[in-house]
Amino acid sequence: ATPVAIMVGTGKGAENGILIKSGEALETAHAIDTVVMDKTGTITEGRPKVTDILPLKGTKEDLVAIAAALEKGSEHPLAEAITTYAGDHQLTGRTASDFKALFGRGVQAVIDGKTYYAGNTRLMDEAHIDTKAITASLNALADDGKTPLLFADDKEIIGIIAVADVEKETSAEAIADFAKMGINVVMLTGDNQRTAEAIRQRLHIPQVIAGVLPQDKEKHIAALQAEGHKVAMIGDGINDAPALAKADLGMAIGAGTDVAIESADAVLMRSDLLDAVSAIRLSKAVIKNIK
Ligand code: ADP
Ligand code: MG
Repeated sequence: ATPVAIMVGTGKGAENGILIKSGEALETAHAIDTVVMDKTGTITEGRPKVTDILPLKGTKEDLVAIAAALEKGSEHPLAEAITTYAGDHQLTGRTASDFKALFGRGVQAVIDGKTYYAGNTRLMDEAHIDTKAITASLNALADDGKTPLLFADDKEIIGIIAVADVEKETSAEAIADFAKMGINVVMLTGDNQRTAEAIRQRLHIPQVIAGVLPQDKEKHIAALQAEGHKVAMIGDGINDAPALAKADLGMAIGAGTDVAIESADAVLMRSDLLDAVSAIRLSKAVIKNIK
């Protein structure tokens, strides 16, 4: 491509809120056949809210107070949903210590000398906490597209709190646009399979890969590339950074973390997935004019 065409292209991108960091990135974009997207903060707004409180022992208030004490030690958006809810309902009376973040699974901490866990079923399995009795509840919540968070003491489940996040207004349209362009869309998420599947159906996403540990997102990009695909990754989180760097074209959500923005080849300043569609269209136009 000629330097002038590239300059015009990146200029056009910038005018439309798409910051393309290099001419090479603009050129690569035209050949993308697969777009991988993170869920939370990328397809969704990234501000999950509490939807259901299901205590198994004690009252709802007890469960929220314990949950908030545990989640205070976590910076995860799911944790924020819980601490915000507890704050709004004056349920912040409990305190925890010895916080441990268990990446991609949840947290553990100590309250009144006892160890407690907050996280997904994978975490409960690791802590040898039986979740069979709550399977039906977990499935019902997940089928609604909600993310069930499990809470347990050192012996058993004490309750479930579900959270849900709204999809960005333009996500469905962007996914449909990619499909019209013949591009395959894959949602890559740390969330559980069932919740991911509910969201997949709602937004008509062709493919989902769920239950992905933060350190494994990159491997899924590499696997798609090994199959011969030209892969774009769109993400916002710290855990998306390696995948953004690995992808042929990494596109960071402007409202995302600094690490994601630094690792990407392009930044979607308006945090809108339709701008990712525009970026690829723009690249195709630039390449066409050159040839
Ligand atoms: P994502 O950002 O896609 O949700 P993560 O890898 O950050 O992916 O988290 C994966 C899953 O681990 C979450 O969906 C949730 O079930 C569980 N999890 C992570 N952090 C927490 C937390 N602080 N409290 C409860 N559960 C958590
Ligand atoms: Mg995210």
